[in-house]
Amino acid sequence: MEFDKEKYKVWKLPHPMLLHWIINPGLAFNELILGQRIPKVTLIDKTSDAPLMERQYVPCPECNALNDGRLWSKSNTFGHWFGYVCPECHGRISCLWNITSLILLVLTFPIWIWLKIFGERKWIEKEKSRFAEVVSSELPEAKKTNWLKMGITYGVLMFCIMVLPKSFQNQLTPSAIAIQAAIWLGGGLVFGLAMKLFLGSRK
Ligand SMILES: [Zn+2]
Repeated sequence: MEFDKEKYKVWKLPHPMLLHWIINPGLAFNELILGQRIPKVTLIDKTSDAPLMERQYVPCPECNALNDGRLWSKSNTFGHWFGYVCPECHGRISCLWNITSLILLVLTFPIWIWLKIFGERKWIEKEKSRFAEVVSSELPEAKKTNWLKMGITYGVLMFCIMVLPKSFQNQLTPSAIAIQAAIWLGGGLVFGLAMKLFLGSRK
């Protein structure tokens, strides 16, 4: 599929963001448990001066529709274990796989293959109906996004995943837990700020 290179910047492998998505082992959690996926190709409108998150498009290889990237955000961020479905033609849009996810998928093949055989078609039907929900609640805008809340949520989530299991096993002293809490809160704030600068960046 060819794109208007004058108008769009094409994000595909080996773009550093996409490379990070396939290499970072932690993101296997996002893919396998949460069902968060990243399309193989994303287009960034170079001619628009809107914030980055408002000028990302996901091209459909079947009907060539350029779908707003925000259709897969908010209530439609997670649950895409079988990949993206085009909102225009309901064709399939290929997504990346994280390397760690692929290894885990090979090892657990006898478990999920049944979900794929019996559940995939039904799930794809559900994918089609989920767009209406996102569109009806308005697509997110950078200026209306609460980056502070996003950062703190990220920090709390990471604390729960990284620290709580160890503290339940009594491997951490109370002061070590407090230090970890401060580190993840700080990390979350940095994450929120980085997202604000990155997703809100104009050309
Ligand atoms: Zn399509």
